[in-house]
Amino acid sequence: MKYVDEFRDPKAAKVLVKAIAEKVDAIGATVEKPVHIMEICGGHTHAIFRYGLDKLTPPGLEFIHGPGCPVCVLPMSRVDECIEIAERPGVIFTTFGDAMRVPGTRKSLIQAKADGADIRMVYSPLDALELARRNPDNEVVFFGLGFETTTPSTALAIQQAARENLSNFSVFCNHITVPPPIKVLLDDPHMVLDGFVGPGHVSMVIGTRPYDFIARDYGKPIVVAGFEPIDLLQSVLMVLTQIAEGRAEVENQYARIVPDGGNPVSIAAIEDVYQPRPTFEWRGLGEIDASGLRIRDKYKDFDAEEKFGIGYATGRRVVEEPEGCACGEVMTGRIKPMQCPQFGKGCTPDIPLGALMVSSEGACAAYWQYGGARQAAE
Ligand code: SF4
Repeated sequence: MKYVDEFRDPKAAKVLVKAIAEKVDAIGATVEKPVHIMEICGGHTHAIFRYGLDKLTPPGLEFIHGPGCPVCVLPMSRVDECIEIAERPGVIFTTFGDAMRVPGTRKSLIQAKADGADIRMVYSPLDALELARRNPDNEVVFFGLGFETTTPSTALAIQQAARENLSNFSVFCNHITVPPPIKVLLDDPHMVLDGFVGPGHVSMVIGTRPYDFIARDYGKPIVVAGFEPIDLLQSVLMVLTQIAEGRAEVENQYARIVPDGGNPVSIAAIEDVYQPRPTFEWRGLGEIDASGLRIRDKYKDFDAEEKFGIGYATGRRVVEEPEGCACGEVMTGRIKPMQCPQFGKGCTPDIPLGALMVSSEGACAAYWQYGGARQAAE
């Protein structure tokens, strides 16, 4: 397909790799003192490893993997609450496949399904709506999970359920937003971050302006990037160019998809259906103010937390991470997945200890899939 081939062109990649190496030299970054660029999005982490960009780029450039995998940052307590809802009589619990194998304290959703709970994978919240129409005697709950990329589709499903007065449909809302955790990382005195590759899909919805604070208040460059190898290489070069020139700006490499003002229809749906929670717990990052969304009171009949008296509606349980799990450190870029003592030992895709090993956007899954499994075996 011509459109994709252009963004995977080896000749163009070679030119960009050479330019990146020159820019890293110009900055004076070395393997001992590398320039640190965080790719916020887990989809970018996987693309970097799938195309071997970590090996093509010079050792003076270090990719720091950010917290942009919504399944990974979900605390165990929320997985437990999913299972608590799913195991109630008469409930059909629906979820994207990505969340099925994420461990809770007792079990994962897939284990709860094996134990008899009616848990079904769907491709869209509209599939869950259809299930609610077809099963009027059941409570159909959709596991709303994800950043701004998936938040609008859940909002549209809630608006549609309200129009149809579909009283047996509700959403267990775990939608979160990207800017607050970036601010937490930038405020952390132990983090060394020289620039960011910004998320492509999230920015398609919110645009590029919500990142202005990164350049304005913290003096760090950010370039919103696409997901093909040429996109990523070009974005890294743009970040390095800003650093070399002493600039800190929000730039948009993914302009073919991302309008700077975002998608007004999606933004309107988000504003109509949700409001920020005062605080929301992130795995590895703790409670972050205004980082999660709750369903507004006008749609509270479709809020599973209200309907089932669970989660933030009733007071939160704090759940400790499993012994030896370093998910928090990996997710905040403090260590690489293979530095986790459990990697390939107590934690594999077959028997995961943390969500990062089973999510399609998890950093540990990326390392495992693209070479880590072999290295762990060795
Ligand atoms: S290897 Fe497993 S326990 Fe360690 S950080 Fe990755 S997902 Fe978490």
